[in-house]
Amino acid sequence: MEEKVSSAKQLEEELFYQAPNVLDARPELKDEAWAYCEEYRRFLNRAKTEREFIEEAVILLKQAGYQPFEPGKNYQPGEKVYWVNRGKALLASTFGTLPVGQGVRINAAHIDSPRLDLKQNPLYEKGELSYFKTHYYGGLRKYQWTAIPLSIHGVFVRPNGETVRVRIGEEEGDPIFTISDLLPHLSKEQDKRPLSDGVKGEELNLLIGSTPYPDKEIKNRVKLATMQLLHEKYGITERDFTCAELEIVPAFSARDLGFDRSMMAAYGHDDRVCAYAALRAEIDVKTPAHTTVTCLTDKEETGSDGNTGLASAYLPDYLRYLAKAQGEEPLAMFANTKCLSADVNAAYDPTFADVFEENNVARLNKGVVVTKYTGARGKSGTSDASAETMAFFAGILNEHGVIWQTGELGKIDIGGGGTVAKYVANHNIDVVDIGVPLLSMHAPYEVAAKADIYMCYLAFSAFAE
Ligand code: MN
Ligand code: MN
Repeated sequence: MEEKVSSAKQLEEELFYQAPNVLDARPELKDEAWAYCEEYRRFLNRAKTEREFIEEAVILLKQAGYQPFEPGKNYQPGEKVYWVNRGKALLASTFGTLPVGQGVRINAAHIDSPRLDLKQNPLYEKGELSYFKTHYYGGLRKYQWTAIPLSIHGVFVRPNGETVRVRIGEEEGDPIFTISDLLPHLSKEQDKRPLSDGVKGEELNLLIGSTPYPDKEIKNRVKLATMQLLHEKYGITERDFTCAELEIVPAFSARDLGFDRSMMAAYGHDDRVCAYAALRAEIDVKTPAHTTVTCLTDKEETGSDGNTGLASAYLPDYLRYLAKAQGEEPLAMFANTKCLSADVNAAYDPTFADVFEENNVARLNKGVVVTKYTGARGKSGTSDASAETMAFFAGILNEHGVIWQTGELGKIDIGGGGTVAKYVANHNIDVVDIGVPLLSMHAPYEVAAKADIYMCYLAFSAFAE
C-alpha cells in the first residue's frame, strides 16, 4: 500500500505541472532581483510619460555607447545604435554575427500608460475656481482618478519648434493638482449610477487655482490669475494649449509594497515594467547571433494607431533599412524574425476571483506570463501564437532557468484586451506576448511582484542573447 502511494506521488510529479513560486524555485536570485527592482523603481519615478521614458532611455543608451542610427550604414557585429521616433518611440539594436536576412530578434514594449490628457481649450473658471478640462487616454476606470494627488507632464511647442517642457507635481515642494469628488453625505444620487458612470468623462476636471486677479472689473478673475501664472512660468497664452501635449498622471512615487517588500506599487507598470526590462536586456547584450531590435512604442493604450504606434510603418521601415544596408531581402528577413511582444497580463486577484478562470490565470510570484493569445470572446483581434512559436520561446526560457507561467486575461465572456502582438505578426513575423502579471492593471497605482519583474528581465536577456 505504502509503495503504491509513493509511486502515485512520483507519477504525479512526473506527469502533472504546477507552476512553482519563483522564491521557492530560484531563492538564490532574491538579492539581485531586489537590487534590479530598486533601479527600476528609480527609473520609473523619472519616466512617467512616453516622452520622459524616451529621454531617460536615451541617457542610458548613450552611456552604454549607443550611436544614432544612420540608414544605409553597414554595421559590424557588436555595434549598437538607437533611433528616436518623434520623441515618443524608440528603436535600438545590437548587431549580431548572423546576417539580418536570417531574422532579427524584436522585443516590443509600449511606454504609454492610461492617463488624462488636457483638452485643446482646457482652461476655465467656475464657482470662482480655475480648472483644466481633461480627456482620458486609454482604458481607465474614471472613478479611480478622483481625490488623489495628480501631476502635469508634457510640452508646449512654439511655432519656431522650440519646446517648453512641463513637469509639475513630482518634486518635494511642488504643488499637486486633484479632481474633486462628492462627499458621502451628498452622494445619494451619484451612488445610484453604475460604477462605470460613477464619475463621468466630463466630470474629470482638474482643480488648478482659486486666487482671483485683483481687478474686480474683470469677469473671470481666477482664470485670469491662473493664466497669468502660466504665462510667467511657461511664456504661454491661452491659444498655446492647442500646440501642446499635457498629460495628467498620479503624483505618487513607485514604492515597495508589503511587510516583506516583495511587491512594488507604481503608476505605469503597464507597460514600463516590460519596457525597462527590454531596454536593460538590450543594453546588456554584447554580441548576439541575431541582431536585436528593441522597440519601445507609443499609443498602445489607444489601439496602436498614429505614427508613433505599432500599427504604423516605423518598425517595418527600420527593418527594411537594416536589410538593405546588408544587401539582404527584407521579405526573407521578416519571415525569419522572432518577436517578443513584451506586455503585462492580469494577475489572479483573490478578492475578485469570479472574473478569473482558475486553471488559466497568471499569479503573482509565479514568473513571467507567456500569453499565447489575447483578444475578446472568440479570440477576436488576436494574433494567437502558433504551437511552434510557443515551443521556440518555451525552449529559450527553460534553457535559461526562467520561471514562467501562462495566463488568459480572465473568463472568456467577461471581457478582453489586446497588445501590439498582432501589428507585428501581420508583417509575417512570429510573435508571442511575454510580460509581468499585475494586480489593479490600468489603475493609478498598479501592483507587480518583484520576483516576476526580475524574471521578465531574465526572459528578455535570454531572448536577446
Ligand atoms: Mn500593456
Ligand atoms: Mn494597458
